Amino acid sequence: MIFVLFCGSTYYVFVASLQQRLPENVPGDFFVDSTCIDCDTCSQLAPGIFRDHGDQCSVHHQPESAAETQLAMMALVACPTGSIGAIERHDAHLGIDAFPLLLADNVYFCGFTSESSFGAWSYLITRPASEGGNILIDSPRFATQLVKRIEAMGGVSRMLLTHKDDVAAHDLFRDRFNCERVMHADDGASRLGVERVISGEEPVQLENDLLVIPTPGHTRGHVVFLYRNKFLFTGDHLAWSPRKQTLTAFRSVAWYSWPEQTRSMEKLLNCEFQWVLPGHGDMHNDDAQTMHDHLARCVSWMKAVK
Ligand code: SF4
Repeated sequence: MIFVLFCGSTYYVFVASLQQRLPENVPGDFFVDSTCIDCDTCSQLAPGIFRDHGDQCSVHHQPESAAETQLAMMALVACPTGSIGAIERHDAHLGIDAFPLLLADNVYFCGFTSESSFGAWSYLITRPASEGGNILIDSPRFATQLVKRIEAMGGVSRMLLTHKDDVAAHDLFRDRFNCERVMHADDGASRLGVERVISGEEPVQLENDLLVIPTPGHTRGHVVFLYRNKFLFTGDHLAWSPRKQTLTAFRSVAWYSWPEQTRSMEKLLNCEFQWVLPGHGDMHNDDAQTMHDHLARCVSWMKAVK
């Protein structure tokens, strides 16, 4: 079954299938179908409604309020595979218009994740043109409604790419906004036609308040971006673990080198930040000293893990 939602005069088609509804869903309106790729976007965005039950996610609590329905619709829109459906008809504006979602200051979560980056999260920094214009960190899905909203917010001047897995629709954003892309040479930046290629392992000061820090490990050319000594965009290098209640890294996907990732994680102890904003895994914020303590704990754990 194909679900169609109406937004103004536009039809949005989501392909979640009632026939493929996972048995783990609780009965009711919203559901996840068997096409779920377990990216965890829904369970991170709306943990009161969606949960990871193992290899996939499902609805564990049906929305009971307008606020919960909006969260479910945001997850539906953000899902990279159209795996979330609803039996009732809902206004698509509820989900679509929520993105980009303000996190703090001038930093937004884009929603609209892309299947080609396995549902990785991307972020938008908004700034006046006089301060260099907006920055997109990694690529969301090139969805018309999101692109229009980003355009209305000032477009994109720079696109920062943490690593090769999360580039998704970088070329389409480049074509639409004529933005300068930034990426490390060791992750194939030249092959992708990236305009500003970073090389080596030394941090590069892109702007007064924007630093590129090479962090090989997950991939050889992985980098993280530090903005205003406050927001650390970490790609697949570092994330918050709700289970461990501290910062963590992903041993099983250290495709390039776990020892290298441990070494490059240790370098980040020299940085000050209050937010960790990953591509995969949970985001987290706290005061700078507490975040530093979490990072130090993470590095100690990484050194102990082979
Ligand atoms: S967002 Fe979609 S693909 Fe990702 S875990 Fe949820 S249902 Fe599955």
